[in-house]
Amino acid sequence: MANIEVAGLHKKFDNFTAVINSNFKIRDGEFFVILGPSGCGKTTTLRMIAGLELPTSGKILLDDEDVSFERASNRDIAFMFQMFALYPHMNVKENICFPLKCQGYSKAAIAEKLAEVARILRIEHILDNKISSLAGGDRQRVALGRAIIREPKAFLMDEPLGALDSEFRHDMTIELRELHIKMKATTVYVTHDQLEAMMLADRIMIMNHGIIEQIGTPAEIYNKPRSLFVAKFVGEPPMNFLSIESAVDKDSDYVYVESTKISIPKILDKPDSQDLLLGFRPDQVNVSQTYLDNALNGVVQASEYFGTNQVLTIACASGVLKARIPAETQFKEGENVYVTLKPEKLIVFDEGSGQAVLSTYLVEK
Ligand code: ATP
Repeated sequence: MANIEVAGLHKKFDNFTAVINSNFKIRDGEFFVILGPSGCGKTTTLRMIAGLELPTSGKILLDDEDVSFERASNRDIAFMFQMFALYPHMNVKENICFPLKCQGYSKAAIAEKLAEVARILRIEHILDNKISSLAGGDRQRVALGRAIIREPKAFLMDEPLGALDSEFRHDMTIELRELHIKMKATTVYVTHDQLEAMMLADRIMIMNHGIIEQIGTPAEIYNKPRSLFVAKFVGEPPMNFLSIESAVDKDSDYVYVESTKISIPKILDKPDSQDLLLGFRPDQVNVSQTYLDNALNGVVQASEYFGTNQVLTIACASGVLKARIPAETQFKEGENVYVTLKPEKLIVFDEGSGQAVLSTYLVEK
């Protein structure tokens, strides 16, 4: 297996720059997910790593070897697309073994590798079946089998589950993660689905308009977003934002939202901007039916019941927020409530630059 390094990578299509000065390293055996909205440059980045697209400038190193302008066929990387191109006139076994046959492996060696791959993917019982008789999940397993049997240095996958319906997609996500734990193969996986990214990734790289917004573990991305974009893109329901009233002072450890004093992590630098937002996840909110000192006053607009918890939509003077709280207490629409925020995960964002300027993790560093 391999480590992959991308340095100063740029890709221009005529006057449009799809990937802008990309720098990142993927560790040997890592499951690395590139996440972002449509058109942000995920596929272009992956295709450059594969050798299917040449960079305008910058470098791609595979195990420290510069492969930036090397042909795809010389990179020893397996690439899987959303539409898995299986050969319809061959059965499952023939499809999986095809790459080894092309490379001139002996029959005995192919049989040995096939047995191993079929065991890992749990497809021993369908090896003689026709491709046309297979359901989407099994087709996906066969496509994976054909990639795995080559034992390439790395796997690159571009929305490989995109064609499956949502139930299959969830099951296959779990299977892919299990497969990765067994094989420990370096994998670069592109998706626009944040849940898929969270379930699969060792680390996630979030892209936006050709730029890397953040690279981190799923927990870092969720708890410590470095920008408004990341904070909004990851999490369901999304992060809440309330306007901070007064300018932030370096020596204070609180801000005012709707004249309510809210403790925040220690301030490191006084931000230049006056347009600051207080960001917090819906699970950082406490809601009380009785009056609390120093709480935001709001009105319940809606409540969604999820068995063990519920999500309340609460209208406050400074905006609408979502609170994910235990399901025990019932709230009625139109009810007056008092909202307090758990202090440990509050983040202050500069609305102008879109960057996190103050948060617990910035203090921790
Ligand atoms: P999606 O999930 O929709 O594929 P993406 O994040 O993978 O999105 P890319 O496919 O990398 O995005 O495309 C990034 C941008 O580059 C898009 O605006 C796209 O239109 C443009 N682009 C990609 N390939 C080409 C090309 N061959 N010629 C011109 N523009 C291109």
